[in-house]
Amino acid sequence: MYIADTTTLIEPFGIDLDLERGIMQNPGHHLKRHASDMRGYYKDEEALEKLIQEHHDPLHYEVFETPVPKEDGHLMYCISTLQPGLVGNECFMTKGHYHARVNTGEIYLCLRGVGYMVMKREDGECRYEKMVRGNMVYVPPYWAHRSVNTGTQEPLISFCVYPADCGYNYGDIEKEGFPKRIFNENGAIKIL
Ligand code: MN
Repeated sequence: MYIADTTTLIEPFGIDLDLERGIMQNPGHHLKRHASDMRGYYKDEEALEKLIQEHHDPLHYEVFETPVPKEDGHLMYCISTLQPGLVGNECFMTKGHYHARVNTGEIYLCLRGVGYMVMKREDGECRYEKMVRGNMVYVPPYWAHRSVNTGTQEPLISFCVYPADCGYNYGDIEKEGFPKRIFNENGAIKIL
């Protein structure tokens, strides 16, 4: 058997996912982002500060990642759970990122809730795809991606798969943002 020296041989395993609540048992990494982690991302910064003060810095989103080696050949998968809510009238969203290895794609399968995957390329091209239970979004290599929960009651839960060594690049998004934002204006979803 040929084993690449950059890819560790590990044992097969199965894992329990709570698809309804968006929880992975015993994840390798559990990332939690609160409203205060989102400073600089929303249009209405005052509304974000108000939300942090008045609602005790509520949980924004969580990502449960699997414990596999971050190496070429391995596949990382995660469950991402984004809470519903508004900052001013902008829908709750994730920070969004490029992959550090920018030529790597990702699969998102929506399990629950409703929203959009917003994607942008370095040259400024922007696209969005609807996320609803059963919709799968293919994020091609080179596209930064962010999910946005347009629901008012339910979390937006997705299952994702991506190359384990793809890494994250948040820095460029922090500086540039995305060309489109998604708002809920008195019940009407607007992508502006
Ligand atoms: Mn990604």
